[in-house]
Amino acid sequence: MRQPLVTGNWKMNGSKQSIADLLDGLKQGVGEVNSAELAVCPPAIYIPQVADSLANTPIKWGGQNLSVENQGAFTGEISGDMLTDFNARYVIVGHSERRSLYGETDTLVADKVAKALACGLTPILCVGELLSEREAEQTESVVNRQLDAVVAKIGIDTMAQVVVAYEPVWAIGTGKTATPEQAQDVHAFIRQRIAVQNVQVADGLRILYGGSMKADNAADLMAQPDIDGGLIGGASLKAVEFLAICKAAG
Ligand code: PEP
Repeated sequence: MRQPLVTGNWKMNGSKQSIADLLDGLKQGVGEVNSAELAVCPPAIYIPQVADSLANTPIKWGGQNLSVENQGAFTGEISGDMLTDFNARYVIVGHSERRSLYGETDTLVADKVAKALACGLTPILCVGELLSEREAEQTESVVNRQLDAVVAKIGIDTMAQVVVAYEPVWAIGTGKTATPEQAQDVHAFIRQRIAVQNVQVADGLRILYGGSMKADNAADLMAQPDIDGGLIGGASLKAVEFLAICKAAG
């Protein structure tokens, strides 16, 4: 039985006040969520505030990115050890914005997944195709390539320690959600690709959907057999909306 996970990716949004309000709302409402695990990924500068506020609550938190380096002259970077120093549980790796805006390659993403694991973090590995790739019927080959790079780096057995997020790039921040069937097809494909190498790992692998998930479309997506939660951008910035998605997850 896979425990659903709903993670908020706050991206570069928020202020001390808005984050305090959002965290208050989440803490007040988390008791009404049945079985889903909740996590939030704040901008790095707000990590101390989030870590303090969520200590002794069931809500976990994570980084939005990490360096492949341990420490040293890497201006602007944050290491996995720094995240664990503040008790982070998760870290998003290979988000499409990192891949497209900051040139992160499949190889770099695989190295970051390995580094996250070495630091004791659970990586949330993002994969997904561009609109042009979907239109060219390359969705499976793109997702497969992104996944394979990571499996080749860490080994199939270690995939048991990874969460995968399928995020069609054309659905992120666009209001254009994949239909439950479109999402389920790719989730099933991902699980099957892992299953041919290790059935147990595939059965336990949590695969989140991300891309304009909201309170009003979450239930249909979460009802799909291979969708184990969500990675939520815009809708994670409002406590009521995010909690409604979490409740839809289980
Ligand atoms: C994301 O950035 O991971 C995401 C899914 O964003 P949104 O929910 O806003 O589409």
